[in-house]
Amino acid sequence: MRGVLVVNLENLLGLISASPLLTVGLTGGSVMIGYLATQWWAVNSRSRLEKKRTNLELDILRKKIDALDKKAAAGPDVAWNGFRKFTVTKKVLESDDTFSFYLEPHDGKRLPPFKPGQYLTFQFHLPNKPKPEIRCYSLSDGSISDEHYRVTIKRALPDKNHRNFDPEKVGLISSHFCDSVNEGDIIDTKAPSGKFFLDVEVERPVVLIGGGIGVTPMIAMSRFLTHLKDPREIYFFFGARSGKDHMFREEMLELQKTNPKMRLHVCYSRPDTEDELGKSYNHESRVTVDLMKEILPSSNYQYFLCGPGPFMDSLVNGLYEWGVPKKDVNFEAFGPSTVKVGPKTPSAPSEATAGQLAFEVEFAKSGKKLKWDPQAGNLRDFGSDNGIDMGGFCGAGSCTECMVAIKDGDVEYPDGGCDVEDGCCLPCLCRPKGKLVIDA
Ligand SMILES: Cc1cc2nc3c(=O)[nH]c(=O)nc-3n(C[C@H](O)[C@H](O)[C@H](O)COP(=O)(O)OP(=O)(O)OC[C@H]3O[C@@H](n4cnc5c(N)ncnc54)[C@H](O)[C@@H]3O)c2cc1C
Repeated sequence: MRGVLVVNLENLLGLISASPLLTVGLTGGSVMIGYLATQWWAVNSRSRLEKKRTNLELDILRKKIDALDKKAAAGPDVAWNGFRKFTVTKKVLESDDTFSFYLEPHDGKRLPPFKPGQYLTFQFHLPNKPKPEIRCYSLSDGSISDEHYRVTIKRALPDKNHRNFDPEKVGLISSHFCDSVNEGDIIDTKAPSGKFFLDVEVERPVVLIGGGIGVTPMIAMSRFLTHLKDPREIYFFFGARSGKDHMFREEMLELQKTNPKMRLHVCYSRPDTEDELGKSYNHESRVTVDLMKEILPSSNYQYFLCGPGPFMDSLVNGLYEWGVPKKDVNFEAFGPSTVKVGPKTPSAPSEATAGQLAFEVEFAKSGKKLKWDPQAGNLRDFGSDNGIDMGGFCGAGSCTECMVAIKDGDVEYPDGGCDVEDGCCLPCLCRPKGKLVIDA
């Protein structure tokens, strides 16, 4: 019945628009026709909306079933405790002094899936080292059905801010990976962990920002979304000095080709003569918030960032200044020197950072009372220099393994705040604010 009415109305409306005279002649009935036309329009647009919504719901359902299927195919969600042996099945040079390592479990069993952005924790027993060396490396491969993990490691160069600066001293474990870990070797790693990850259930468009080796978690995130055929928009910004440091070049281009929702922006701050603008890179600049303001339609995205200290510092604070809520700005630091992101207005330096004061720090469990002064650095280094091992290995507040309870007094975080349980502190990032008692 409705179908007939619709057809008749459509014809009638067509006739009216074609013949203005008829419109005048129909003045008496125009109110009625207007009413019917409005009704028809409402019914028609409602049904179009319903159809659209149903399609959208079906899409979401299909995507969820697909994800569950893939998860089920990947085996049970069982992580493992402690360290597990993995075989290096492939080692690939990604750019200058940067290698990817493909790892398969030595026991041949399946791998639990991980969240893109998480990292693996490796342990190495090196000659002349009394204790094992432990380091974290982000997973750079984010496809859930694969039976391998992949990490990508760049040789760490001497750090001018190091307490015992030595220009000859290059990163211990990153160099070991680059020079001595080869295909067929067996290495120990803990299960994927970390709180910095992209939650695919939160269906919001994302901006992924990677500086240098900090791009590893972003590669995992974009691979993961592409693998799931996730319909959300992805803006991917990558910053490097030049083409020599452009890791994952082919992979980024391939992702952009496969995923119509991904827009890639490669920035070189100091391109070489052989680097071609428009071909190997898109912008001759650093990744900046001003560039994002030019490119993004709005600031309303979820942001994920990882990179060197100054890069993170300017971007995170720039995003806050742009009005992006703190909950939408997610970032990871790869080491102590990269933790420079602070509150917009840094708190006034305490007596400890400003002056020459020394405070008594009591390590309750170890039964030691020691004098701390600003030269002693953070509480973890201070403890370790005095024979108190507080655990932890990332030195960046990421692994939270060194977390300890404060029994009395207070601490401060010179490089900004950190996410830690009430009444506790992360010794790798903090210093005492006055007399302090900690449960270590
Ligand atoms: C969550 C997380 C994820 C990470 N993901 C990655 C990743 O995907 N890829 C990656 O490459 N890295 C990653 N890292 C960093 C990685 O864990 C290591 O910190 C990094 O490889 C350096 O370790 P290293 O043993 O090589 O250097 P270390 O020997 O620990 O030295 C640290 C730094 O100090 C310098 N240094 C040491 N001694 C001296 C000295 N006497 N004088 C001057 N400089 C000195 C070193 O050259 C190096 O730059 C990640 C870190 C974290 C916390």
